[in-house]
Amino acid sequence: MKKVLFLSLVCILNCEGKMSQRQAPHNDAFIARRQGMVEQQIVARGVTDGRIIAAMRSLPREKFVPSDYADRAYEDYPLPIGHNQTISQPYIVAYMTEILQLDGSEKVLEIGTGSGYQAAVLGECAKTVYSMEIVTPLCIKARELLAELGYQNVHVRCGDGYAGWPEEAPFDAIIVTAAPTEVPQTLVEQLANNGRMVLPVGKFIQNLLLIGKDANGLVSKEKLIAVRFVPMTGGE
Ligand code: SAH
Repeated sequence: MKKVLFLSLVCILNCEGKMSQRQAPHNDAFIARRQGMVEQQIVARGVTDGRIIAAMRSLPREKFVPSDYADRAYEDYPLPIGHNQTISQPYIVAYMTEILQLDGSEKVLEIGTGSGYQAAVLGECAKTVYSMEIVTPLCIKARELLAELGYQNVHVRCGDGYAGWPEEAPFDAIIVTAAPTEVPQTLVEQLANNGRMVLPVGKFIQNLLLIGKDANGLVSKEKLIAVRFVPMTGGE
């Protein structure tokens, strides 16, 4: 009896929304921390998109950080993932995803797969995700983890995101999680009409920008908040 109750509790916490796309985490000692993170860092700060909240309530973020950092996986700051790169702070992941206004029907391009955590959140909120990572070991690791978690709609390519993913363009939404010094024009070209792109731009001082394309392909630009991301490397 006890076992049945426990299992259904796990299901209430983990089986909402599109959660069928991935396996439920087993041996989950992190549930309480995960729910706390979502309440205090995501919901309390004004994120309202139910799909993002459900994704973050369920995703085992501890698997996306090196095991030495698993204890800190739900803290309110970025963490190192090796190769001088970081997994973004949970709030930034939620904030940037919300800016894209996804309804589940979109094809999304992400530049900077890193740990794959943002890609997994996108995988829960959009139809298909194409994510690119320039550091090959990170790319392979993220691809394997996403496959292990059951994300068949998230595709990871090892390569320089400055080129975008021309075979799959145009994209309804583009998110860049490393900071270029200028908006990469190739990515603007790969954005569909009525599409939205969010990216940090700058060197020491960086701002998050929202690039929009209207129905006629006219491009607009809006400055959002000041942020701090690792630099986008590769060729401009
Ligand atoms: N979205 C990630 C955070 C990534 S940190 C997550 O959820 O964990 C930024 C990542 O962008 C790093 O892994 C870095 O290697 C990668 N990156 C930097 N320049 C790149 C480029 N030109 N193309 C693709 N990836 C790039």
